Amino acid sequence: MDLSELYREVILDHYKSPRNFGVLTPANAAADGHNPLCGDRLHLTLQLADDRVQDLQFDGKGCAISTASASMMTEAVKGKTRADIATLFNDVHHLLTEREFVPSQDLGKLAALGGVREFPARVKCASLCWHTLNAALAQHDQSSADASAVPSISTE
Ligand code: ZN
Repeated sequence: MDLSELYREVILDHYKSPRNFGVLTPANAAADGHNPLCGDRLHLTLQLADDRVQDLQFDGKGCAISTASASMMTEAVKGKTRADIATLFNDVHHLLTEREFVPSQDLGKLAALGGVREFPARVKCASLCWHTLNAALAQHDQSSADASAVPSISTE
């Protein structure tokens, strides 16, 4: 299966039936993401323990790519440590932008996101969820200061 075929199949699958869709309760980290170029909006809720993302969910309204990317991200990072997530984010970021990039690990279904390279305007749709995840992790670090403040990020 070539990349464009894989891309269409995986994106469509996750867009039609997003995994981990909803609002997680209880959650001890959250963030909102907005991609003004496309209009994608994302709300992410996480439960962190021992530096590990135990569980997470997302909801919101976005295009097929932002929704599918968020769905795949939730599957990929669930149960992972923050260090593993940082490495994965780095791989995904390069995958979205560099044609010759060789990931440091087997990216599984996330490899399909490489198809986004053919549509540069869509890179921000695909990366929105990852930036939102980073914002939620940062919020968790500061949550003792104000647990009710949910950070909001914009890709612009
Ligand atoms: Zn979009």
